[in-house]
Amino acid sequence: MTNADGPEFTEPLHVGRPNLGDRDRFRQRIEGALDRQWLTDGPLVAEFEAALAEVTGTGYCVAMCNATAGIQVAARASGLVAGDEVLVPGFTWVATAHALDWIGIVPVFCDVDEVSGTIDPDHAERLIGPRTRGILGVHVFGHPCEIDRLAELAWRHDLVVLYDAAHGIGCTYRGSPIGGFGTAEVFSFHANKYVNSFEGGAIVTNDAVVAGRARAMRNFGITPDRKVAFAGTNAKLTEGAAAMGLTSLESMPDFAAANRANHRRYRAGLAGVPGISVREQADGEVANHQYLVIEVDAALAGIHRDRLHELLTRNNVLSRPYFHPACHQLLPYADRPDRHAPLPLPRAEALADRVLALPTGTAVTATDIDRISDLIRRLVPNGC
Ligand SMILES: *Cc1c(COP(=O)(O)O)cnc(C)c1O
Repeated sequence: MTNADGPEFTEPLHVGRPNLGDRDRFRQRIEGALDRQWLTDGPLVAEFEAALAEVTGTGYCVAMCNATAGIQVAARASGLVAGDEVLVPGFTWVATAHALDWIGIVPVFCDVDEVSGTIDPDHAERLIGPRTRGILGVHVFGHPCEIDRLAELAWRHDLVVLYDAAHGIGCTYRGSPIGGFGTAEVFSFHANKYVNSFEGGAIVTNDAVVAGRARAMRNFGITPDRKVAFAGTNAKLTEGAAAMGLTSLESMPDFAAANRANHRRYRAGLAGVPGISVREQADGEVANHQYLVIEVDAALAGIHRDRLHELLTRNNVLSRPYFHPACHQLLPYADRPDRHAPLPLPRAEALADRVLALPTGTAVTATDIDRISDLIRRLVPNGC
């Protein structure tokens, strides 16, 4: 089943190879920062925040050193405190739960909708208990959560709603940009994300009070009048990171076009391969296609996701089983049944067992995609 003449690709193809914007623009911005001798939390950060608020149609943006710290500051700025329970989906990157757990907020894992992969509002409602104070939804792979239903649930039970929008920039929910929903949303600009600032993140919100608190809390709790008004952390963004973030944001339309074309090409290339389906973005919404995720139905394909992953890796296609194991199955959480809802979470676990992210983004060519698709076709036994 493997290529007798060696791997299909001589150079490894990665999931999440960075999308780079215009290098000259980046260099100019860095020169500007050096000329000003202002290296962190300065004019480039302010410009990045303004651009993000504009792109997402939100009132306020507070740039952060990463999304993990962003979730923590957003939680604190929204009034959540240690000991509170917050509902999170089982199917997500571990940072979603870690961000809360690390500040003493208890992540309570919920099952997800099978198709969208996002938190199931019905299951979430059943898990609401006396200590539940919030919901942290994840727009996983850029697919928006069931935002209206979560808002309604939160209203009835007096909960804070936050969104981990690490995959969400450039996506919409009912035609409006991700970013403006819930009390606040948090983006990630990690190197592997769609828009990147080396490392970075941002909190966006329409709530002036939450924005003001977040801005202070990211900088040791210092308010604009130079008083320490809150307990805070240091989660500021550097000017260098903001230079990269601005440059990356300017190229977002190019990244989107490349990802959309890649998605179409994979869909065509993998059409008719038994047991292999390309995950689709939400119907009728704008999507960033940051991730190209296939699902492997082992019974239909005659091969399990893990084996396909292994064979692709041997051929230098470095696919990734995002997100497996499911978050609640990881050691720090699986070990602590007191800290989450009754398990298992069958739909989150089934999804985690099937998904495989394939290389996409601006670094992958149409020819690469055709070859990857053909390789998968050859590796799927029931496809021959
Ligand atoms: C990447 C990611 C994060 C963490 O973002 P950082 O900026 O690396 O801290 C959080 N949640 C999800 C779903 C992610 O994919």
